[in-house]
Amino acid sequence: MSTKKILLLATGGTIACKPTSRGVLAPAISAEELLQFVPELAGLCRIDTMQLYDLDSTNIGPEHWCGMAKAIQDHYHAYDGFVIAHGTDTMAYTAAALSYMIQNPDKPIVLTGSQKSIYNRDTDARNNLLHAFAYAVSEGAWGVQIVFNNLVILGTRARKVRSKSLNAFSSIDYPETAVFRDDRLIRFLPAPEHQPPVQFAAGMDPAVFVLRLVPGMGAQIFEALKPFYHAVVIEGFGVGGLPGGEKGPLLQAVRDWLASGRLAVFSTQVQHEGSDLSVYEVGRIARDLPGALEARDMTPEAVVTKLMWVLAQTTTPDAARQLFEVPVQHDLL
Ligand code: ASP
Repeated sequence: MSTKKILLLATGGTIACKPTSRGVLAPAISAEELLQFVPELAGLCRIDTMQLYDLDSTNIGPEHWCGMAKAIQDHYHAYDGFVIAHGTDTMAYTAAALSYMIQNPDKPIVLTGSQKSIYNRDTDARNNLLHAFAYAVSEGAWGVQIVFNNLVILGTRARKVRSKSLNAFSSIDYPETAVFRDDRLIRFLPAPEHQPPVQFAAGMDPAVFVLRLVPGMGAQIFEALKPFYHAVVIEGFGVGGLPGGEKGPLLQAVRDWLASGRLAVFSTQVQHEGSDLSVYEVGRIARDLPGALEARDMTPEAVVTKLMWVLAQTTTPDAARQLFEVPVQHDLL
């Protein structure tokens, strides 16, 4: 058995679900109970548990990310690594958020969950939990990662790409950190060398809106968003851009939005390969707006949570824009 000590933070999710009397699934299994389903873990390392939440991850948001980051910060020196049991639906958001809130961790922070409850006969929960801990105690484990269905995926590159199948997560446009082949761990991305000390951020500003363009969309939405939001992510088509041309109402609305000191990031609805506003006229007009930002090859989850983190660090638009452009854990390639 490894002498390593790992803290298991349980937050709910399908992995911890039992059927209710109404015939639906709701989180009900404690962190301690989860461990009893995987007796092999007792031979792997020492594990303490903390029951942080009991939530379907649809109900997890910025305040819970802050709770998770705080729990890790409070116990950072007492453990060799952290495993977070979490619902799959928003796991990629939590993984990206923690990648910004806990920068340069020299200990692994591993999220896992399952598509089928640990009570299910053909559950993926046991395999995922076992691999999450096996990765967390392995030499050279690093960063915020999702361990799921034999893959170890960087928190900033992970997306849920299937709602039902066991291969629910992909690493988008970047190699996996590692894979499990049976019980053998094969690493592709080594831990970064010469990192500055770990840094924890305390807050997130949730006032970020994602606007998915559809053909024919009007520009009034921007005025409606202003009282509530500090940043908007504009998901365009293909490599990105804005319909309506130089004199169009959408371009004028985004210009006004930016002039009001808010942030705007142009991104794409396309899953792979990101935006490139420099290619087409429709992209150039967007790129040339003073203060406009571009998502390029960041995942949607990374864009949104990075903006929330940035806006909690500074209220100065220029400083916020600069912070957004600094790559964190391979979010920008
Ligand atoms: N609805 C569940 C959740 O995200 C789904 C899952 O965990 O797979 O909490």
